[in-house]
Amino acid sequence: MKRVNLTGFSREKLVAFCTSLGESQYRAGQIFSWIHGKLAPSFAEMTDLPISLREQLEEVALLENLTVVSIQDSALTSSRKFLFQLSDGARIESVYLPDSGRHTICLSSQVGCSLDCTFCATGKMDYIRNLTAAEIVAQLIAIQRRVEERISNVVFMGMGEPFLNYDAVMKSASLINDDKGFAIGARKITISTAGIAKNIVRFADEGHRFRLAFSLNATDETSRSDIMPITKKYTLSDCLNALSYYCEKSRRRVTLEYVLMSGVNDSDRDAGRLVSITRRLKCKLNIIPYNPIPGEVVRRPTEEELNMFVRKLLPSRSALTVRWSQGKDINAACGQLYTQIGRGTARKQMEETATAS
Ligand code: SAH
Repeated sequence: MKRVNLTGFSREKLVAFCTSLGESQYRAGQIFSWIHGKLAPSFAEMTDLPISLREQLEEVALLENLTVVSIQDSALTSSRKFLFQLSDGARIESVYLPDSGRHTICLSSQVGCSLDCTFCATGKMDYIRNLTAAEIVAQLIAIQRRVEERISNVVFMGMGEPFLNYDAVMKSASLINDDKGFAIGARKITISTAGIAKNIVRFADEGHRFRLAFSLNATDETSRSDIMPITKKYTLSDCLNALSYYCEKSRRRVTLEYVLMSGVNDSDRDAGRLVSITRRLKCKLNIIPYNPIPGEVVRRPTEEELNMFVRKLLPSRSALTVRWSQGKDINAACGQLYTQIGRGTARKQMEETATAS
């Protein structure tokens, strides 16, 4: 019999599961807080459950425990990059980014990515598969076990496109938000999308309270299609319309992310169009200097170029921040997550591991 994975279960689902075993709702609450609050790696450690139940759980259920392949510590900041192996041998990365008072983790939502954004390291990998909700939450569990500070913020900005794995991402975000578990506030959980317009609308319609970020990165259809091919399917205009709908419906702001690349999207016209986009939308704007990735000829803007561009944005009345990336020296900055197993070889490696086990 296939064992059920309880790490991805909501409290309601755990109640149903416990009922099916003839156990009370109270037991479901205990199990949930062992998994998401006390981070128990096995049922044996759930010491306030009767031994007979612990034994039964071992037989019929399992917990998602990711294997840590490596941890890289940044010498420049305190950020740490985790390379995890999943049960089928696939590998993903997540990053821990402590900052004054705020301890953020950046989660992956897919193994690889199908979007092929030219400036993103994960885009150079093949798309392998979606992560399950359990595998997403397990990244947080594994990192929280290894860092002292309480993780306070979560961003879905690691490998993959969260809105192409919508159900699992929403499930995992709700688990992370649950006040009997990690209890990370919805406003401290950010889901970032390259622009899957139909799911921006769905996100708005479902009334989620998580923060939404949109990777804008270019200001007109042609140049955005050049660097983010997904624009051919969901145009910039589709995305901006979906975002306006989201802002109206949710009465919230969206965060626009703009990776500034020298000679690509930093012209005066870009600045002008960016200002008019920010005037049309209720938004905050994050300017992220491009982190060079291997094989790309695009240059990271100098500090002076960055300042010049930012000055041109001042007519925009939106809140503007410049995000200097952390963890550059360990390739753990935005868009740098790539499991170093090379294009085309990820699947092979996964198959080998699967056959070996
Ligand atoms: N697919 C999602 C989430 C992953 S990318 C999305 O596109 O939003 C997370 C953020 O990193 C995005 O804003 C993306 O534009 C940015 N990014 C990607 N590559 C980068 C690079 N080389 N330098 C700086 N930021 C990058």
